[in-house]
Amino acid sequence: PVRTRFAPSPTGYLHVGGARTALFNYLFAKKHGGTFILRIEDTDKERNTDEARAAIFEGLSWLGMDWDEGPNKGGEHGPYNQSERMDIYNRYFEKLVAADRVYADDGAYRFRFERKPITMHDLVCGEVTVDYTDESINPDMVLKRSDGSYTFHFVNVVDDIEMGMTHILRGEDHLMNTPKHLQLFAAFGIAPPAYAHIPLILNMDGSKMSKRDQGAAIGEYASQGYTPKAVFNFLALLGWSPKDESEIFSPEEIIEKFTIESINRAPGKFDIEKCGWVNQQHLAKLSPEDFASAAQPYVDAAGITTDEKYVTIAGSIQEKVRLLTEVPAMIAFFYNPDYPFDPEAIEKVKKNEAAAGLLEKLATALATLSDWSQAKDAIGATAKENGAKPGQLMFPTRVALTGAAGGPDLGAILDILGQTESVRRINRAVT
Ligand code: GLU
Repeated sequence: PVRTRFAPSPTGYLHVGGARTALFNYLFAKKHGGTFILRIEDTDKERNTDEARAAIFEGLSWLGMDWDEGPNKGGEHGPYNQSERMDIYNRYFEKLVAADRVYADDGAYRFRFERKPITMHDLVCGEVTVDYTDESINPDMVLKRSDGSYTFHFVNVVDDIEMGMTHILRGEDHLMNTPKHLQLFAAFGIAPPAYAHIPLILNMDGSKMSKRDQGAAIGEYASQGYTPKAVFNFLALLGWSPKDESEIFSPEEIIEKFTIESINRAPGKFDIEKCGWVNQQHLAKLSPEDFASAAQPYVDAAGITTDEKYVTIAGSIQEKVRLLTEVPAMIAFFYNPDYPFDPEAIEKVKKNEAAAGLLEKLATALATLSDWSQAKDAIGATAKENGAKPGQLMFPTRVALTGAAGGPDLGAILDILGQTESVRRINRAVT
């Protein structure tokens, strides 16, 4: 059975690159009915923080990547924090001592590296050979420091053995660590897992993405109005593409389509505009009820008190929304009887001298309308009766009802506001 892991060091924010690595491990495990493990590589006491640890848990949970084994979950291969595994590391270290594979160097201990060419069969990068016969380089890496702590190479391999990993998907920046890891596996007499080194993520200009770049911290996506499933989708597209042309998928569809063969060799380009587009596509697919609840926290935070019409109101703008943060401003006029008028929109309305007169006529016509579903048609009819084109009255009506030049469909606005309120708003605008 497949066992994969995400093994972050809790030293900063959960970064897009880390989340993407986690995602690929998650996808591969789920695809094969396997187990996805979270292991916290927290041996570097100086650099670890509780905030960073919390950001990993929160970020993965928000994205819906629940780990099967790990901190807060347990499992048969724990503990899952490296800082709690010293006994295991000591035991493994003694094995290497007994086999004469380590030697002391100023209080630290180095690995006795076997000098020979090492060929990796990477599932993404293909065959890569590194020749260690060159005497000018010393490949004997430190395994244990003079303060007694163990290095990344050592604990990483020990844990991958102990936790029964079958596949390791990690960033390409680790490719050159892998020959070292393979020698450690060999020294322990254990067959290594399969490795897949996934391409880096670059900025649009080709520079390496850093923690300071916009969109780098997973923890900021929620407050910026992205939905978790859209970010899940977007992260998957950073370094992976399905065979067909489509790009918008649910997590379940991505699990079904994901294969290691379809991971790209070329670096992923990080395009935050595309993330907005993906978000918009995901929002548009939601039911009006789900869209309304997704937007609710943002609407609440803006101080808007919603009512029984809220789902319909939210539905009227659903297809136009890229980020959920846009929703409050788009629906505010529905909930504000004293909504402000956009000066530019007013300016445009006033270009047509007949507008005010037409609006007055419309208010009268609407006030006496017996079937409110005819309201939008009444605009055209009123315009015609007064020798104007429907468009000459549509725009002023929109501005009168909403205060703005753009917004939801006029029919939907009239429908939601209802007769009394629509007439009041037009009269308010005229006076
Ligand atoms: N702690 C390492 C990192 O965050 C793990 C590398 C690995 O996945 O093997 O880069």
